[in-house]
Amino acid sequence: MNALAQEIAAMIAEGGPISLELYMKLALAHPIHGYYRHKQPIGAKGDFITAPEVHQMFGELIGLWAAEVWHLMGEPPHVHLVELGPGRGTLMADALRAARVLPRFFNALDVHLVETSETLTAVQRETLLTCGATVAWHATWDDVPKGPMIVIANEFFDALPVRHYVYDGCWRERLVGLAPDGRFAFGLAPEPTPEIALKAEPGTILELGLAAQEMMTEIAARLTAEPGVLLALDYGSDAFHFGESLQAVRAHRFADVLEDPGEADLTAHVDFGGLAQAARKAGAAAHGPISQGLFLTRLGIFERAAQLAQRADARQKAGIEAALDRLARPGPQMGPRASMAELFKVLAVTSPGLPIPPGFEADTA
Ligand code: SAH
Repeated sequence: MNALAQEIAAMIAEGGPISLELYMKLALAHPIHGYYRHKQPIGAKGDFITAPEVHQMFGELIGLWAAEVWHLMGEPPHVHLVELGPGRGTLMADALRAARVLPRFFNALDVHLVETSETLTAVQRETLLTCGATVAWHATWDDVPKGPMIVIANEFFDALPVRHYVYDGCWRERLVGLAPDGRFAFGLAPEPTPEIALKAEPGTILELGLAAQEMMTEIAARLTAEPGVLLALDYGSDAFHFGESLQAVRAHRFADVLEDPGEADLTAHVDFGGLAQAARKAGAAAHGPISQGLFLTRLGIFERAAQLAQRADARQKAGIEAALDRLARPGPQMGPRASMAELFKVLAVTSPGLPIPPGFEADTA
């Protein structure tokens, strides 16, 4: 048992089983032992690879997208370019490099990174050392100063804890307790949760990303007070359905959710329908979600790839093709060559009255 498992076990021994949501929160965000506090998660040597790490085109297209959004916002002289959970800083570095060709936009920008991980903050500082923009770091979204803003969140919402409920005639919350052998085990709350009125077959699991919805409500509330846009890219579904998607990933393989908390990345698919609903309820407009493949195609990834290929050697050309396969072309859903094109969705949330952002035009009536 690692130090965090011992701490959680002591908590359970003293106060009884804890909610899965709290377990996930501790495993990811415990101030000392949480996964995002002490691990170096992203990259070939880490636990998983993200789109900006696949190829520079991803971040570049998002940088140009942000410039167009700034234009739609009426070109405010100062705009915050905010990134939630910026990982290694790769997306931001690529976005800023692309944005430099539009000096008026580039000069209006100041960059704000919201990051809890000290390890990753150090990597971001290194990556962005020569980016030419002013960069500020914040531990929470609340610390980002007010003003017109463009917010980017790639694989951020999937890292927020989820709650599970199981139906056995009524809905009961899923808890984490201790089995007789001392290991963690799932159980159910003795009291039902009468607020959930959904009908289901016995054994059905309901997964609720309430932390993600609360985060969205806060962001959308800001966007109703000042002009701005949020772009969220993540794996998930556009329509609500029952079932669980919680998974543990360690060194590019699936692992046991209840084993070695803080050592594996725990994530759940993002409920984009729920996020869009939370945004609208808070008074903002929501566009999409659409698939990442469609979004990148509309932003011109294939044209950009052709342009890059013109002055690329054979190895670079192969890299560009492999990146198009992973990021934008439909393909296998599992394995090391799995395509993100359809599993990943893109949602834009804007201040009310702002024009539809690029990429979403055909999807909003
Ligand atoms: N966007 C990056 C990294 C995705 S991994 C990429 O695409 O490569 C998730 C990121 O969110 C990491 O940087 C992690 O440290 C950060 N993170 C996780 N939970 C967070 C929270 N509650 N607040 C701020 N950042 C968080």
